[in-house]
Amino acid sequence: MDNVFNKQKQFVADVSHELKTPLSVILMETEMALRKQRKIDDYINTIDQIKNSALHMKNIIDTLLKLISIENTKLLEKKTCDIKEIIKKSIFLSKQQLDKRNIDLKINGETFFIEADETLITEVFLNLIDNSIKYNKESGIIDINIDASKKIVEIIDSGIGIEKEALDKIFDKFYRADPSRSKTIEGLGLGLSLVKEILELHKSKIKVESKPNIGTKVTIYF
Ligand code: ADP
Repeated sequence: MDNVFNKQKQFVADVSHELKTPLSVILMETEMALRKQRKIDDYINTIDQIKNSALHMKNIIDTLLKLISIENTKLLEKKTCDIKEIIKKSIFLSKQQLDKRNIDLKINGETFFIEADETLITEVFLNLIDNSIKYNKESGIIDINIDASKKIVEIIDSGIGIEKEALDKIFDKFYRADPSRSKTIEGLGLGLSLVKEILELHKSKIKVESKPNIGTKVTIYF
């Protein structure tokens, strides 16, 4: 019980901290702008920064609401889903980022079927593919292997990898490995906790193995 309470306290502290940064930017920018008469370009610049900070806050809140609604969901809208079709749809939705970073993605293996909530499982693949693009090298590769007999899907990327000490923490809310490099790659540190919650609801498991500078392999056991 104590542990649950502490976790909740930590979560509230983390959320407050994450929202405080963009909020401070908004307050600082507006204060500066109001201090004296400015040129129109300065006002435009201020409004632009306020907009970006507000969007960042909206992103955090939207993702948190999604997480909370998933945690509270007892009823999944389950139906028979074709796993390869879900993966293909997720790839289609990630096409722009794949092209932008010139990543070569291949799917291997025959499909299998699961009883699942299609929207949520699509969310899982969207997040995992998004990570294997974001944390990949320019012109890197992604291999998605489907093993129908074992009901396993692997997502292997040739990216920057994850240090051993960080591997245990990547599923924690707001955790981002290596803050210096995370600054240049966009993210909230919520994607993998969302993935884990969804898979737990489906009684499925996820395993992440990684070698820094070589790449990361994510295995989902349906
Ligand atoms: P986000 O990508 O928004 O930071 P996630 O919860 O999806 O948040 O991932 C948490 C952290 O795990 C990331 O910040 C990153 O450091 C690390 N990570 C996740 N996937 C990969 C990957 N495929 N390759 C390298 N690092 C990864």
